[in-house]
This record gives sequence, structure tokens and C-alpha cells, in this order.
Amino acid sequence: MSSPVSQVQAIRGMNDILPEQSPLWEFFEDTVRDWLHAYGYKNIRMPIVEQTGLFKRAIGEVTDIVEKEMYTFTDALNGESLTLRPEGTASCVRAVLQHNLLYNAPQRLWYMGPMFRHERPQKGRYRQFHQVGVESLGFAGPDIDAEQIIMTARLWKRLGLQDVVLEINTLGSQEDRARHRARLVHYLEQHLDLLDEDSKRRLHTNPLRVLDSKNPAMHELVEAAPKLLDDLDEASLIHFDALQAMLRAAGVEYRINPRLVRGLDYYNFTVFEWVTTRLGAQGTVCAGGRYDGLIAQIGGKPAPACGFAMGVERLLALLEEQSFQPPEKPVDAYVVHQGETADQFAFQVVEQLRDQGLSAILHCGGGSFKSQMKKADSSGARYAVIIGDDEAAAGQLTLKPLRELGEQARVNLAGAIEIIRSK
Ligand code: ATP
Ligand code: MG
Repeated sequence: MSSPVSQVQAIRGMNDILPEQSPLWEFFEDTVRDWLHAYGYKNIRMPIVEQTGLFKRAIGEVTDIVEKEMYTFTDALNGESLTLRPEGTASCVRAVLQHNLLYNAPQRLWYMGPMFRHERPQKGRYRQFHQVGVESLGFAGPDIDAEQIIMTARLWKRLGLQDVVLEINTLGSQEDRARHRARLVHYLEQHLDLLDEDSKRRLHTNPLRVLDSKNPAMHELVEAAPKLLDDLDEASLIHFDALQAMLRAAGVEYRINPRLVRGLDYYNFTVFEWVTTRLGAQGTVCAGGRYDGLIAQIGGKPAPACGFAMGVERLLALLEEQSFQPPEKPVDAYVVHQGETADQFAFQVVEQLRDQGLSAILHCGGGSFKSQMKKADSSGARYAVIIGDDEAAAGQLTLKPLRELGEQARVNLAGAIEIIRSK
């Protein structure tokens, strides 16, 4: 006797999205597409695999993502180091440079798709998750910073999303950060005994990230640390003030969070996050900011840019939390048929329904009328179209409403189409 074949399972933290969940995903994706169109953003699609060096250069060597979250492997054919994209900005900027898209005009771009990070899976944190990313390249802002924040506020409205609040901060310019960095290192060095291992390591490589520590034991130290806001020069303050004035004028409420530094190295000036308290620890649903240094960092002619990404799973979890029901899109007709002429006629009818822009399921696999009608009922279709040899001979069909009251009626195809369309 052969041993039973063990069932293959999906990889931990990488989820199937089942038909039952699809209406919510599709509602979200449709809403997102319309919303981006309303702001004139154009879609760009990048490969899922890139050279590892791209992410190291763009995101930064001393970040959580590059240090421990990337799916990196060696291409067995040529020995190249490749990585499943952990985020989209690096690839998007790479594509823009490779195809010289900034040559003529600035660009407003967006993409949607899976990202990969080797994290501990938990609610709202997966190893394959989805982001909608938005990038504006070639704009120095702060008007474009404001546009991006204001547009996210509109998306929440369109989605009917509640309980998300906006936090903003500024990271200042390169020079501001250098000044601040010196002050911060000095402060942290005076409290070496209070630093955890991660922070000790980052003290000299990336001290700003120490402030982003999630270790509660470091909380007090972080709270009392020198504030970047106090190290900003005139130009940085003007940019930040202008952004705030635009947000106020648009009626978008915000809170300044001086501890908001973001986990990726490429940000400067504006950073922002939309957060909710309704998803436990995984409360950030959308995050982004300005990254004026990135384009030059990966080999392009320097140009300003800013962008953000939202976590689709977290947004959908929040919608579900609110008991949101996506709009139903039932199929118009389920066609049941029995008899040799009826079977042939049914094939013609169902194609003609589709010719007229209606949606229809043709029953496949035979069976009695009774069992076919059960399938029609459970399909969720609005109407059953019933075709026996009788109907086929007369060139007619019987139409029966399945989801609302109404009599069944024997009609010709044109009549059926009229009834189906009339509701
Ligand atoms: P976190 O602090 O939660 O780890 P992050 O700063 O690493 O987030 P970003 O790189 O800014 O996240 O990605 C933007 C958004 O993508 C996040 O705000 C979140 O909504 C979503 N996201 C990031 N990592 C994951 C993940 N592993 N699973 C699900 N969603 C994620
Ligand atoms: Mg993370």
C-alpha cells in the first residue's frame, strides 16, 4: 500500500484570498483606481524581483527591512543576488530612472501589488502583504506633500473608513539631521547603560532610529531625548509651516508627532502616518513622506520626490471591524437546460445574453431540473433562465426571478433581456 500523500500548504504568513473575500478586495481596488484617476495619477507596474543591491541602497543597510526582513536568494543560473520586493518605492524610482520618465515632466504615479517581508506573522502583519503605493517625482513641494495627504483623507471618506487619525512630522534637511545627529549621539552616549542591544548598535550607524525603538524599557530615555524640531533651520520650518497651512485650509485634522521618524532611511522633510487604535499593535494603515535624496542615491540626476504606501490588509481589516458590507454584484442569469435541442439552444441564449452586456452562468454537468434549480438558487443569480425542449422548439425561454418576488414568465429572448434590464 502506498503511503498517503501529504497535503501541500501555503507558506506561513502568505495568505490565499478566497472568493468569499474577493468582493471586499474588488470594492477596495475599484475605489482606489477611481480615486487615483480623480487626482491624475498614472499606473506603473514593476517586477516583483529586483537586484538585492537596489533595496540596500535605497532603503538603507541599517534598517529593519534590509537587516532582517528581506527574502533574498541567489539566482542559480548566474549567481546574482535577488530579492522579492519588500516595498515599491525603490523599484518605482529605478523604473523611472531606467526609462528616463523625468526627462520632460514631473510624474504622478501609483502601483498596487504584493510585497514580501520576513516578519513574525500576526494579525495585520504578514510575509506577503499588499500595498497601494503613490509616488510624485520631480516636485519640490510642500504643495505636493499636502496633495498626497489631502487625497488620502478623501480616500478614507470614499471608503467610509472611521477612526483613522493623521500624524505628521518633519525630519528636516540633510544638514538639520547632521546637526541633530551630533546632539543625539552626545545625549545617548551619556546614557549608554540604558540602551538595549539594538540601540547600542545603532548609536553610531543610525542614531535617529533609536528614537523609533518599540522597547518599553527605552521609553523614558526616548521621551527625554533632544528633539529634531529644535534643530531645524529656517527653510525646513517654512516647508513644514506651509504644509500645515494647506492642511488646515483643506480642513484635514492632524497631530504633530515629534517621534515619528519612519523605518526607512530615505525620508527628509515631511513624514506622515495614518493610524487607528482599532487594530491593536498593527495600527498604521498608511505611511509616507518626502525623499528628496533617493533618486540621486540610486544613481539618477537629483530630483525631489515624495510618496506613501498603504497596507491593504490593514485597511480591509478596519473596514471589516466596522462591519462594512461591500456592494453586491450578482450575476444576472443562471441558465438551466435539459434535453438535446434545449442544451444547444441554451448555449446560444447564454452567449446572446452576454452580447447584450448581461452576465450569465450556464449550468454545466447535467442533472434534473430540480437539482439545476438548486444550483441556480445558491449561485446568487438574479434570474433563472429555464430551457426545456419545449421552450427550445418555440424559440422561447422561461424566466424566473430568484432574488425578488415576481411571477415566472414564458418569453422570447428580447423579452427576457428587457425584464432583466428593467430592474
Ligand atoms: P510597521 O511599523 O507596522 O512594521 P512599516 O513602517 O514597516 O510598518 P512601511 O514600510 O511604511 O511599514 O509600509 C507601509 C504600510 O504597509 C504600513 O503602514 C502597513 O500598513 C503596511 N505593512 C507594512 N508591513 C506589513 C506587513 N508585514 N504586513 C501587512 N502590512 C504591512
Ligand atoms: Mg515594519
